[in-house]
Amino acid sequence: MDCFNHCTGRFLGGVPCSGLSEKAVRGVHSLSLRGDVQIKGHFLYILHIENRAILLYTMLCIIKTAAGTIKKKGAVGMIAHLRLKAYGKINLALDVLGRKPDGYHEVRMVMQTVGLHDRIDLYRTREPGIRLETNLFYLPDNEQNLAYRAAALLFEEFGIKEGLSIRLRKFIPVSAGMAGGSTDAAAVLYGVNRMFGLELTLQELMERGVKLGADIPYCIMRGTALSEGIGEKLTRLPAIPQCQVLIAKPGISVSTKTVYESLDAMDLKPEDHPDIDGMIEEIRKKDLYAVAGKFGNVLERVTAGRYPVIGQIEDLMKEQGAVNAMMSGSGPTVFGLFTNPAAARKAYQVLRYGEGSGLAKQVYLTNFFNIGKSTAGRPRR
Ligand code: ATP
Repeated sequence: MDCFNHCTGRFLGGVPCSGLSEKAVRGVHSLSLRGDVQIKGHFLYILHIENRAILLYTMLCIIKTAAGTIKKKGAVGMIAHLRLKAYGKINLALDVLGRKPDGYHEVRMVMQTVGLHDRIDLYRTREPGIRLETNLFYLPDNEQNLAYRAAALLFEEFGIKEGLSIRLRKFIPVSAGMAGGSTDAAAVLYGVNRMFGLELTLQELMERGVKLGADIPYCIMRGTALSEGIGEKLTRLPAIPQCQVLIAKPGISVSTKTVYESLDAMDLKPEDHPDIDGMIEEIRKKDLYAVAGKFGNVLERVTAGRYPVIGQIEDLMKEQGAVNAMMSGSGPTVFGLFTNPAAARKAYQVLRYGEGSGLAKQVYLTNFFNIGKSTAGRPRR
């Protein structure tokens, strides 16, 4: 006989009630709810049965939840899928201090993360090895791709025997001076660390990242920062007041390596170097206009010297109301900062569809991405 099928029968499934008829039990139960002292013995018996039922019910709930988790994640606590955003950067200031004997350049840069991002999905697979697919046919899908190399680095170090499938959807312009490859690698380092429970700190991830690319430690840190050395010495700076960031990439690609080599051959005067300390002061004062007034990129002399379109895009952005405009990294991407959203939208239209459409191949309107509170909007393409 099923005693408590109205509340616990599903789980008790036939626990005998030793002599109490269903009617009697229900009667006693309803009496006990009214607090009748005459049936105290029966009441305790019922409570005893109910407690066992509740305990059993609770245990079954826990097992059911765990089973659901196992089905979803593969095992309790195991992550089967991670979806990540890999944000691009712009350089508000970029200076090259010299070339080290190992060929690396010593730099001083003010970095700012922007809302424009690539999307990365990581899937844990039973089949061992790393696989990568991207939405751009011309990007490598093997160890030539920084996202792949980032995963391989951790797989090798930690002897990971399972497999990983990486799905990379690029939105950040390629070979554009926005650290697209570096930020993908940074996201994969972060994701593999989480997915496989490697428990590396961000600092430890940065130490590994710099082996693959000088900008990777910054892409792990994100936000506003001063980057020194070859890019591994990072100092967090206060967030700059939010604004609209218009990004335009002309239809040319430049090689970072070639740009740096050409700079080596140039004779730079002291006034050719940007005032980075002055910019940091203005950042601390949170004065966006003064920060924009200190824009400077020593590499612009090389790239913009070769491609006049860079200067033309800058001029157009300023005509359209940008506080200031400059080339990012080794170029050729140009960005302009706007404090008036309507003017920024109009400038976007002009560059995308209007009289400036011949200048830029890719145009995006986005924001600063700051750590702590994400104010980054979805990128517009
Ligand atoms: P930086 O600003 O750090 O100099 P960039 O924006 O100029 O970088 P990337 O977009 O990172 O340049 O690409 C540079 C080269 O790296 C390209 O030739 C590309 O084939 C290769 N590459 C490897 N992995 C990636 C990736 N995940 N995304 C983009 N490019 C990649």
